[in-house]
Amino acid sequence: MSTDETMPRETMPRDDGLPGKVAVISGGVSGIGLALAQAYARAGVATVLGYHPGDPHDPEAAVGAVREQGGRVLAVPADVRDRAAVEELAETAVREFGRLDIAVANAGILRQADLADLSDEDWHAMLDVDLTGVLRLLRAARTRMASGGAMVAVSSIAGGVYGWDGHAHYAAAKAGVLGLVRSLGVELAPRGIRVNAVIPGLIETPQSLDARNSLGPEGLRAAGAGIPAGRVGRADEVARVIRFLTSDDAAYVTGQQLVVDGGLTVRFPD
Ligand code: NAD
Repeated sequence: MSTDETMPRETMPRDDGLPGKVAVISGGVSGIGLALAQAYARAGVATVLGYHPGDPHDPEAAVGAVREQGGRVLAVPADVRDRAAVEELAETAVREFGRLDIAVANAGILRQADLADLSDEDWHAMLDVDLTGVLRLLRAARTRMASGGAMVAVSSIAGGVYGWDGHAHYAAAKAGVLGLVRSLGVELAPRGIRVNAVIPGLIETPQSLDARNSLGPEGLRAAGAGIPAGRVGRADEVARVIRFLTSDDAAYVTGQQLVVDGGLTVRFPD
């Protein structure tokens, strides 16, 4: 008789390898990062959430929301522009929870700037967070991860699939993330560490609700009508794909990118 027939569903052990693991998430106290920490909590993964002290998100509220899901969690200040702070973020996982298995480079900023107004400073400031920030976290995680470790970086359909006028620096960074992920996938595979990317489409989060730099509430509502799924996505719908990519269910997947967009980028153009 198979296990399925002998064991009630709720008492069956999970076989995705996640329970007992420890994850770090940059930009982890809002949007997709926070939804991921909650998804990990439900899967038995402890999390260390890096947050940008200059941003308006409340780390204590985030920690409370993760604990509500039953997770062990800490939030620590970690500006991804600061190499030492990012090293300390990864080290916190080892010191406080005894190990580091998963790193998710999720922190990001989005700024609107047409080419005519795009200064060198704006360009560097964007890449420092959205591309070099990813490198800093994955590099810090590599030295602390054993075989079986998994990393995910968050790209975007802007740059990852499409161009986006007025956002060339953001798109360049997000396209760069894919090159980084493919290369590290190859480089770290012999060590048993997997590296993948997710490419979110339009997801309702603080970033996309910012009407100055992104679509804003009205723009999101309007855009939802043109998405095959009929709506924009939720942070949790990206989070659960990241959870999958970092689980043993994806044990033979590395250097890849997974688009999470409700069909937006594959629909036939009007
Ligand atoms: P969000 O603004 O809630 O999340 C971004 C997080 O990064 C915030 O917590 C912010 O404080 C943090 N952050 C910004 N600068 C930082 C820094 N220097 N150091 C550390 N943390 C910093 O929005 P989100 O949509 O959840 O964004 C998460 C990721 O998803 C980002 O990389 C974003 O570019 C990407 N993304 C979002 C969408 C979308 O539609 N929302 C689409 C594609 C990609």
